[in-house]
Amino acid sequence: MPGFELFGDAERKEVNDVLDSGVLMRYGFDGMRNGHWKAKELEQAIQSRFDVKHAQLLSSGTAAVSLALAATGIGAGDEVIMPCFTFVASFEAILMLGAIPVVVDIDDTLSLDIHAVQAAITPKTKAIMSVHMCGSMADLDALKHICNTHKLFLIEDACQAIGGTYKGKALGTIGDLGCFSFDFVKTVTCGEGGVVITNKEKFYTRSDQYSDHGHDHHGTDRGAESHPALGYNFRISELNAAVGVAQFKRLDEFLALQKKHYTIIRNELSTIDGVTFRTVPDGGEESYAFLNFFLDDLETARKVSHAFKANGIDVCFHYYDNNWHYIRKWEHLTQQKSLYPLSLEVKQGLAYLKDKSFEKSDHYIGRNMSCLIKLSWTEEETLQRAKTMAALIREATV
Ligand SMILES: *Cc1c(COP(=O)(O)O)cnc(C)c1O
Repeated sequence: MPGFELFGDAERKEVNDVLDSGVLMRYGFDGMRNGHWKAKELEQAIQSRFDVKHAQLLSSGTAAVSLALAATGIGAGDEVIMPCFTFVASFEAILMLGAIPVVVDIDDTLSLDIHAVQAAITPKTKAIMSVHMCGSMADLDALKHICNTHKLFLIEDACQAIGGTYKGKALGTIGDLGCFSFDFVKTVTCGEGGVVITNKEKFYTRSDQYSDHGHDHHGTDRGAESHPALGYNFRISELNAAVGVAQFKRLDEFLALQKKHYTIIRNELSTIDGVTFRTVPDGGEESYAFLNFFLDDLETARKVSHAFKANGIDVCFHYYDNNWHYIRKWEHLTQQKSLYPLSLEVKQGLAYLKDKSFEKSDHYIGRNMSCLIKLSWTEEETLQRAKTMAALIREATV
């Protein structure tokens, strides 16, 4: 997955364009910038690659998810349904707006369980946040149907699945708004960065203004612009955008490498009794950023995880015991450990988490191993790794 593995001359050249002019900001300074508009250039490249009308580049993926929600008008006391297996950014993005994360089970797609989503809908529900964890998606047709029936927004967090598709459409372009992260460990990196994409002009305009203190971006005099609504600063710098310009051009090269390495490992593990793979919904194609598989039970998964670590198989995660990606270890959320007082609405809204259990998700995440697919491996290395993994799994499962 990490694009940083292949950071090189192309990235350096784009950054040097910015250093040569000294204009590190994405807006204004037209005369000084030698015609370089890196953030705009990257936005246009994203629009055309994903066949989407609008892209707003931002300082992070977390900002993108929060801003996507804000653009739909979600705020104080509104409920947003999200999965219990994701990155902590999901609930951070919701809480930033004073809204309430309603955390629900996942299934063998490792994404939202459709029945759990349905059961969680209340009159306060405003949106469903579908997180395409580890390169693949939930049953998005079913989620769209639920959203249409209940008049909810569908927000796609595709931060870990750039390049994946569903029924021929790019992940991120299926819901009302989609988000990618370009942080340092994502398939395409800006160092730090993110983007929100949408076909709806209203959501784009709001995103554009909100991410820059409310600036309407009309005319060429920033000081004279008006501020139609309150905003914040989630701007990306030109230096970060420049890295992304070079990296994004290599997306198809990166995706091809991911698929090649993924396939080598998957073929090897497919020969083992007791290894099954995550379900990809009909019509979906993964981005191949990770290979996810299930073992028989929690104990076996823990054994395999330890054996991998002890034998140099890095970047394979057993998320059940991980602090950042699964509800079991999110006690800062469940115990409401905030630096500042949370609103009464949020406090009450989160109270359900104190005794909610996630048995269905425990069943899947407990047995899951999630292996990051690196770009820098050679074919030979990947095959050797696959054989070592297979041998360690066989040893642990006899
Ligand atoms: C990385 C990530 C984010 C947040 O992105 P940042 O750019 O690090 O803020 C959000 N959601 C998921 C699923 C991610 O993996």
